[in-house]
Amino acid sequence: MSHPTDDRNFRLPAHVRPASYEASLSLDLAGKAFRGDLIVALALAEPTAEIVLHAADLEVSSAELRGDGWSRPAASIRAATASETVVLGFGEAAPPGAAELRLSWTGRFCPGLRGLYDAGGGIAATQFEAADARRVFPCFDEPGFKATWSLDVEAPRGVTVLSNGPVEREEALGDRRRLRFARTPPLPTYLVALVAGRIESHPPVAVRNVPVRTWTQPEKLALTGFGQGVAVEVLPRLEDYFGVPYAFGKLDQAGLPEFEAGAMENAGLVTYREVALLLDPATASLAQKKRVAEVITHELAHQWFGNWVTMTWWDDLWLNEAFATWMAYKIVDGWIPGWRVWLDFDQGKAAALGLDALRSTHPIRAEVRNVAEAGEAFDLITYEKGGAVLRMIEGYLGEERFRDGIRRYMRRHAKGNAVADDLWSALAEASREPVVELANGWIRQAGFPLVSVARIGRILRLEQRRFFSDPAAAKEDDGTTWPVPLVIRYGDGERISEQRFLLRGARAEVPLVGEGDPDFVCANAGSTGFYRVAYDATGLDALARHLPRLAPPERIALLSDEWALVRAGVREIGPFLDLVASFGAERDHAVLDELVARLGTIEHRLVADGDRPALAALAATLFGPRLAETGWDAAADEPDEVRLRRAAAVRALGLVARATGVARDATARLDRWIGGDRGALEPNLHDAAVTMAARAGDAARFEELRRLFAAETDPAFRRRWLLALAAFEQPALAARAVDLAFGDEVPLQDSASFVAALLANRVAREPFWARLRSDWDTLHARVKGAPMLLRRVVEAMGSLVERRHLEEAEAFLAAHPLDEARQATAQTLEGLRQDVALRERSQGGIARWLAAR
Ligand SMILES: [Zn+2]
Repeated sequence: MSHPTDDRNFRLPAHVRPASYEASLSLDLAGKAFRGDLIVALALAEPTAEIVLHAADLEVSSAELRGDGWSRPAASIRAATASETVVLGFGEAAPPGAAELRLSWTGRFCPGLRGLYDAGGGIAATQFEAADARRVFPCFDEPGFKATWSLDVEAPRGVTVLSNGPVEREEALGDRRRLRFARTPPLPTYLVALVAGRIESHPPVAVRNVPVRTWTQPEKLALTGFGQGVAVEVLPRLEDYFGVPYAFGKLDQAGLPEFEAGAMENAGLVTYREVALLLDPATASLAQKKRVAEVITHELAHQWFGNWVTMTWWDDLWLNEAFATWMAYKIVDGWIPGWRVWLDFDQGKAAALGLDALRSTHPIRAEVRNVAEAGEAFDLITYEKGGAVLRMIEGYLGEERFRDGIRRYMRRHAKGNAVADDLWSALAEASREPVVELANGWIRQAGFPLVSVARIGRILRLEQRRFFSDPAAAKEDDGTTWPVPLVIRYGDGERISEQRFLLRGARAEVPLVGEGDPDFVCANAGSTGFYRVAYDATGLDALARHLPRLAPPERIALLSDEWALVRAGVREIGPFLDLVASFGAERDHAVLDELVARLGTIEHRLVADGDRPALAALAATLFGPRLAETGWDAAADEPDEVRLRRAAAVRALGLVARATGVARDATARLDRWIGGDRGALEPNLHDAAVTMAARAGDAARFEELRRLFAAETDPAFRRRWLLALAAFEQPALAARAVDLAFGDEVPLQDSASFVAALLANRVAREPFWARLRSDWDTLHARVKGAPMLLRRVVEAMGSLVERRHLEEAEAFLAAHPLDEARQATAQTLEGLRQDVALRERSQGGIARWLAAR
């Protein structure tokens, strides 16, 4: 007889709702096991003879249901594997009303990086999102079932234990102790957390009465100051934005040696991958500092968006993540405008535009039927496209009306659940604008528009159609249109003007204010819109002649849009290279970074071996003068802008053009740095220098980097030494790196990055790709307990180059279908097909252009 729980799409019935959990957990850290007891206060909406709740790999030993004057032990306890539930049968139906469910169980640590797991360095930690609380507690493990949690934990004395609330009571039990944590506000199960082990912090800093602490292994305590400072700075800024005080009593941030994602916003106890929390300001690159600030702010924004108001189901996960993504940049930008973090946001947006131009993309708000699909929803579309769409809506409504709508939403759904339309209604009420139409146009349909712009006199002719990066699909027009809030910027002599226009249908004409021919027209001012622009030849030529008058994000968007049009078969490679060559006077580091990225892609996958010297010469023309201006050494008071310009030039010359002089200088400086001369290498150059040293390195260098990796406590350097091992180009050393990918020396959390680095290495690529396919079981066994990493491994196959690789990848992924990575598989193969076709179609054009130059 089949039971609904035999279906993996099973959802818990709504008539049994938890109101509160009172849980006790006894940890056996040495044996990697635990024992638990739990009382759940329930509200039964109807007579109930059977209760289903989630439990995965737990041994539930007893269950009892109690009500007013009655109690019933479970007559049957059945584990349903497909739905990861336990079905408790009580024989006779319990009456509607309040009841109490009592459960006892045992379980073990998970082998991967979820549930309760060994996080390395003598630390055990939990990671529950999306649906792994069920691996520690039997519980109602869907976000719609919010309830308060009161937790007590028994652990060996001397072990630090952290959870969501502050410690309320402590009881000694011989060589063990029991800690009782304060009851939390209502939380969905995915936000419950526990960290236990050898972990320390400095004393707390009070921020408007909220004690804030940053925790790590004792030997890394010196690296906590920066992340602690960020939390102290941004917490009040978030409180002010939302108009609601922080709700969880205290804030702990903990850096964990093994962690699957970047960080997790558990209420009151945020956990991080170490590299996203810990750094030494004296040696960290600016990119690292910005990244740490952005991640911390993202997680703290979730304390409101997600934790205080929670999505009803995983199909609105995007709302959590899009909001936190956008909010992090907004808050950090307000705090340190000189960092220009919106340019970093634009890099994420560019990646999302790439993914969203595939046929295998999905709408921001997509159907989610089960846990595997919920896991797959943590992608670029959810975070980056979602964030970009919110930015576009904020730009359209204005900062204050948008914030008022958010505050309204926070007040109305406090401690509860909400769906996306609740947010749009709140924004519409605050702004009296058609937000629902605008938002749903972008949230519910996949893809984005290509806006074509032609100008006749002062009339702009605009057309939109869906943009596909596949040339075969590029001519298709399925009639989809978007409400596109355009901001148009144009120049007449000294004057720059801006005009706003909401493009609703397939085409429109917009008259520009003024007289005569404008010098140039940019149809995505500030590059804040989530669309691409195709200018006609005259428009494009005008932009190329007026580059300095465009803002840096507009220059980046021009390169990025034109490149996308080359990939889509709309433009030829030659004119694109003409455009690249017109950036010879460029000094803005962010635009230079974009140029390095474009040249890097051409070097990696398009150029024939014989044409490499000519491509290197192009890079030298563009970047040589920049390095000559800055030199290698930075003055103590040198602005970040100059430091980053130097770093872009060093990467272009040393990594893309492979200029031997630059690589030699970088390596010599790295050796001095390793010898203790911290002034020898400016922090923003370190990453590139290590890669250059590895590429040219011998066996002694390999072993040196391996020793540095093993001994390093700073997580950014540790990761850098590790990934450098995958960059060696002596075949014997590349083979050693391939072996490392299949052993335990590479931390599990870094295994996917290591795989990606090997596939990007032109010497290691072939042997590693062959080994990956022949020894897949070994690699798969390692990453299967961390589905996000498994998806990263699949995505890394996108950096393969030849048609033969594509065919091998197609055959391999067909023979080894991965349920947790269905989308990643389809998207990676589709992207690779296009890149391989691009290689075949453009190699000749590149050769001709380089020869003519
Ligand atoms: Zn998030």
